[in-house]
Amino acid sequence: MADGQPVGILVQLVEELNAGRIRVVDLTTRLGPETPVIDLPPVFAPSPGLTLTEISRYDARGPAWYWNVLNLGEHTGTHFDAPIHWITGKDLPENATDTIAPRKFIGPACVIDVTADVKNNPDFLLTPARVQTWELRHGRIPALSWVLLRTGWSARTTREDFINMREDGPHSPAFSRECSEFLAHERDVLGVGVETIGTDAGQAGTFEPPFPNHTTMHGAGKFGITSLINLDQLPPTGAVVIAAPLKIADGSGSPLRVIALAPA
Ligand code: MN
Repeated sequence: MADGQPVGILVQLVEELNAGRIRVVDLTTRLGPETPVIDLPPVFAPSPGLTLTEISRYDARGPAWYWNVLNLGEHTGTHFDAPIHWITGKDLPENATDTIAPRKFIGPACVIDVTADVKNNPDFLLTPARVQTWELRHGRIPALSWVLLRTGWSARTTREDFINMREDGPHSPAFSRECSEFLAHERDVLGVGVETIGTDAGQAGTFEPPFPNHTTMHGAGKFGITSLINLDQLPPTGAVVIAAPLKIADGSGSPLRVIALAPA
């Protein structure tokens, strides 16, 4: 084992990291009380934002230590959606944060840049044709990849701009139903990652079916990651994403630190 090739690769990985030839890119937003949470119509139960309550801070409550109590919804800030999150994935094996095989938290990143389209149309939806155009240039999306939709949306730093609510509901980009089906079934991706608050478009509650990306991806045992940043620091291919949620018992998702290893 000690002289085996895989060990050599891991030693080389550390050497490349130490030499700065591999960059570690943080794709995660800062998680705090101001972190926006998705707005649902009032007939549905809302998810609370984060509150942080101090237990002690080097004081009478704990003279040498600082710590807090966290209260938050599983789907807050940069977070992971497990298949059990959606009714279509509820009966799948290994569908919750504590049962998904950890191998599935690591995969190559395919970054599809639609920033220019979204600038003109906040309701932009990625299509299979557009994915195939990307593949002509960058190669076929490998099985067990993360497909990351680069929209520029993370530049919207106020809650108002990020949610982009209008009289008829929120407006933000994502995937067409056909595109989610193509990625899940024709490309067998691990899942999709987005810069927006959810992996479905702002208007997706009006789509048929409603929230087609959640319906399709989670029904196929695939994952979602939301509220990503720094996708502009990744190449279209060649980076590796590590996205491991908290091991919450029967968890539907969790905030997480998403990091990418990318060529310098
Ligand atoms: Mn979610």
